[in-house]
Amino acid sequence: MAYVLEPPQVASLAVSGSKARFPVRRIFCVGRNYAAHAREMGGNPDREPPFFFTKPADAVADSGASIPYPPLTQSLHYEIELVVAIGKAGSDIAVENAASYVWGYGAGIDLTRRDLQDEAKKLARPWDWGKAFDLSAPCGELVPANGALPDSGRIWLAVNGEVRQEGDLSEMIWPIADIIRYTSLSVGLRPGDLIFTGTPAGVGPIVPGDRVAGGVDGIGGIEIVIGERAAA
Ligand code: MN
Repeated sequence: MAYVLEPPQVASLAVSGSKARFPVRRIFCVGRNYAAHAREMGGNPDREPPFFFTKPADAVADSGASIPYPPLTQSLHYEIELVVAIGKAGSDIAVENAASYVWGYGAGIDLTRRDLQDEAKKLARPWDWGKAFDLSAPCGELVPANGALPDSGRIWLAVNGEVRQEGDLSEMIWPIADIIRYTSLSVGLRPGDLIFTGTPAGVGPIVPGDRVAGGVDGIGGIEIVIGERAAA
């Protein structure tokens, strides 16, 4: 196959215990999947079915990355999330079969330009400019799944050593199997797809120079540094 341009590189994430990397195809993200966070964002956790937004595949970055403070914002926020890496194609996936579509898991941060997201909400515009910017989806090493869905375990994030977010996977309004089912009702899931499964309460701003660390017990961790403000 000849292309008129050099084709873009395949976006990818590191894999625990392996030199081979996980190729990233698409990134789906669940909004407001922990009740306390839904409330802090002004929602009602009892009434909302899961909803989704996306980020480009090349928004991923490995743990250890220095991520420039993105353009156009005065309010960059962290959101620690369990990330599900899909390994098998499927549509209309039953909750009972969801685990067999998972290749592995990681701890990721859904970086958010909160001021742009808030403005988009107010004006009933898409969230993309708030959510889908360059390097907005850093994720730590993926660990291969062992067949069981991790439906409990501490999830946390600290800024400069101070814990800001702390929750448990068991607090997810829609557990992993339901998230996989709902996603597969809208699109055909494919190997390489990632799903960010939502964040617990405690989101907040970060600034250049901040060291942001987090993790999910039993799965892994992530650490990034926020660099100086980037040009677009
Ligand atoms: Mn999020």
